Amino acid sequence: MDYGIGGRVAVVTGGSSGVGLATARLLLGMNCKVAICGRNQDRLEAAKRTLDAGPDRLAAFSCDVLNQGAVETFAGQVEAALGPADILVNNAGEARVGGLADLSDQDWLDEYSLKLFSLLYPIRAFKPQLGRKQDGAIVNINSMVSIRPRAHLASSAASRAAGLNFAKSCAEWLAPDGIRVNSVLLGLVRSGQWERRYAKLADKPDSYESYLDAIAEDRGVPLGRFGRAEEVAATIAFLASPGAGYITGSWIDVSGGMKPNV
Ligand code: NDP
Repeated sequence: MDYGIGGRVAVVTGGSSGVGLATARLLLGMNCKVAICGRNQDRLEAAKRTLDAGPDRLAAFSCDVLNQGAVETFAGQVEAALGPADILVNNAGEARVGGLADLSDQDWLDEYSLKLFSLLYPIRAFKPQLGRKQDGAIVNINSMVSIRPRAHLASSAASRAAGLNFAKSCAEWLAPDGIRVNSVLLGLVRSGQWERRYAKLADKPDSYESYLDAIAEDRGVPLGRFGRAEEVAATIAFLASPGAGYITGSWIDVSGGMKPNV
C-alpha cells in the first residue's frame, strides 16, 4: 500500500536517525523519491547505506536547518537531484531537558530558535517547489508537551507550543498554493536521542529495554510502552497523502494515549 503517494518527491529533515530515518524508509517503500538532511556527515552516510536506494530515488545532503543559506542550498540540491519537492517533513531537532530554575536566557533563546527556525527556514525554502502542482504537503514533527507542558521540559514545551501555533498560521498562508500543513505530536518514541541518553547515564539500568520501560511507567503511558519510529512514520505518510487531502492546520497525537483530556 502506498497511500497514493508513489512517485512523489519527499524531503525529510533530520532523516539520518530515529523518526526521520524510519520515515525515509517508509516513503521509499511507498515508491517516493526521498531526500534527507542532517548535520553529521558520517550519520548521513550510514543512513544512505541502510536505506539502500539508488541516486535516482535517494539523496542525502549535509545541512543545518538553522542556517537559512544552507537550507536554501539544500532546496536547490533536492530539486536538481530528484525534481521539485511535493512533501516536506520538518523533523530535525532534539529536546532540551531542564527545569525552570536551571535554564539560562541563552538556553531559552536557543530552544526557541531551534523549534521555530527548523520549521520556518525549510518552509520558506521549499514553498515554491511545494506549490508548483497545487498539491503539496508539509508535516511538522512536534511534541505532546506543546499542549501538555512539563516543568522539566519548560523551554521545549513553550517553544513547541509556539511551533504548533505557527503551523496553524502557515496552513492559512499556504492554502492558496494548495499546500496543506499539519503536525504530529509525539509522546515517547524510541530513537537515536534516547539511545544517546541511555549511553551517557553513569548509573545505568540493566538494559536499554528496562530503561525505556521504567520511563514509560513513570510517565503513565496508557499503552504502557514507548512508541516505535515506524508508527510515527505511518502517521506522517498518511498526513502527506491524498487521503488527508481535506486536513490542514490540524494535528494527530501519536503518544500511546498520553493526552490527558478529550
Ligand atoms: P534523533 O536524535 O534520533 O534524530 C534527530 C535527527 O535530526 C538526526 O538525523 C539529526 O542529525 C537531525 N538534526 C538535529 N538537529 C539538526 C539540525 N539543526 N539540522 C539538521 N538536522 C538536525 O531524534 P528523534 O528521532 O527522536 O527526533 C525527531 C524529532 O522528534 C525531533 O524534532 C524531536 O525533538 C522530536 N521528538 C521526539 C520525541 C521522542 O521521544 N523521540 C518526543 C517528542 C519530540 P544530526 O545530529 O546529524 O544533525
